[in-house]
Amino acid sequence: MIPLSRPDIDDADRRAVEAVLRTPSLSLGPAGPAFETALSNYVGTRHAVAVNSGTSGLHLAVIALGLAPGDEVITTPFSFVASANCLLFEKVRPVFVDIDPATLNIDPAAVEAAVTPRTRAILPVHVFGRPCDMAALCAIAERHDLAIIEDACEALGTTVGGRHAGSSGRVGVFAFYPNKQMTTGEGGMIVTDDDALARLCRSLRNQGRATDDGWLQHPRLGFNYRLSDIASALGLSQLGRIETFITARQRVFDLYAEALGDVAGLRLPAGPGHDERISWFVYVVRLDETFRREDRDAVLGALREDGIGCRDYFQPIHLQPYMSDQFSLTAGDFPVTESVADRTLALPFHNRLTAGEVAAVATSLRRALGRLA
Ligand SMILES: *Cc1c(COP(=O)(O)O)cnc(C)c1O
Repeated sequence: MIPLSRPDIDDADRRAVEAVLRTPSLSLGPAGPAFETALSNYVGTRHAVAVNSGTSGLHLAVIALGLAPGDEVITTPFSFVASANCLLFEKVRPVFVDIDPATLNIDPAAVEAAVTPRTRAILPVHVFGRPCDMAALCAIAERHDLAIIEDACEALGTTVGGRHAGSSGRVGVFAFYPNKQMTTGEGGMIVTDDDALARLCRSLRNQGRATDDGWLQHPRLGFNYRLSDIASALGLSQLGRIETFITARQRVFDLYAEALGDVAGLRLPAGPGHDERISWFVYVVRLDETFRREDRDAVLGALREDGIGCRDYFQPIHLQPYMSDQFSLTAGDFPVTESVADRTLALPFHNRLTAGEVAAVATSLRRALGRLA
């Protein structure tokens, strides 16, 4: 069995967690701030606020920006549902726009065309680790006085011209579920240069407590979105190896490019663009336009029969039943997203995938495609 993803946990990680378990400070102790400082230094933002998931981080970003029922936020339908759900939690309306078929990221021209008097923000997602065109999006935000929430949950370590994904908007969010580049088991991080916004997020994650008030004083409605010291210690230890992880993932990306480069009917992800360093989250190939969704599903089935973990990344958000019902969205609304989503295959991808495993995946994939022809 070759798993789709696998966390990279070593003895130093285990010792870091064990060390916390020997103290009485399992939460709200020193490990949280230590992890936050290390991450803000890495990404290059003034602040980092640790939370218990990427979804929690996105939710707090939406609240902290003061987005309210009836406001519109422009975002992508080609993403993990959390990037749109965070808007629904606050009755903010997601306005979906289609993606660029080359990058799979939100198309800036489509974003600008979707701006209305009710638009308050743009929520771009750096899909699979590939950076969005933040220069174009920031220019649009500036022209129309919009905030940017960067969903960088798939892109920790991605840079453009040395600048980290997640650090260009008003606020950015990372996630540490075990299939991400690094993990805390469950966890997330909000990053921002805005002092007031960071303070508000710290309060909101901790039951609405003011940072300097007493334990039972709650000036606002908040949540328990805290990250434990156990998880933070793991995060700090993992972050210390993030550059090694990114290099290892690029090596697997290159192995796949080599092994699958000549397979007819298959489109491989392009390498980094000019000035980009991509921290790959997953390795997703696409079948040609000549194939249909059923063909892709047949290939997924064949790979699984060979013991190879794989998935159809993503199912379009606008076609999830609760989304399409609430916002009257249907198939055909975002043709590029739908066409791409019908043909994707996420292949096994993690730091320690071997050349032999990549070869086995390639063999299985060739055989499955051969059966379709
Ligand atoms: C992983 C991910 C999130 C956050 O996921 P959590 O499981 O809540 O940590 C958000 N957006 C995208 C695009 C993601 O891939």
